[in-house]
Amino acid sequence: MGAMINDKLTPAERARIRSTLEIRRAALRTEVKAQMEGSGDDRVVGLRNRLEETDDWAVADALAELDLAGLRHALDELTEVDAALARVGDDRYGVCTDCSDVIAPARLSAYPTATRCLECQQAHEAKPAGV
Ligand SMILES: [Zn+2]
Repeated sequence: MGAMINDKLTPAERARIRSTLEIRRAALRTEVKAQMEGSGDDRVVGLRNRLEETDDWAVADALAELDLAGLRHALDELTEVDAALARVGDDRYGVCTDCSDVIAPARLSAYPTATRCLECQQAHEAKPAGV
């Protein structure tokens, strides 16, 4: 059995999680920009110029496609944080993608980008890689 319906996030918890995610996103964007500064790759320089002109983080997708070792982790996390921020305003946030049960608020506070409840996450991680 998963969490009960009255374990749903309160508006205050939701607001706190949103600000945690926004702070994390700003930190990740700063990290990505810093990594881009240090790159001599023409494609990265091109995307960096575009980002500076437009401040449009759609370039993050193009960057991710380049699959650069130094940027992969930050971009992966940035994608997760963006997705969580897109969900946090509506009822999809805090609902497990596997079993549709409510994810415990304590888990969401610790892992705001969590998309699965603890039980489903553990089951998922127990599977062999690639399944
Ligand atoms: Zn679940």
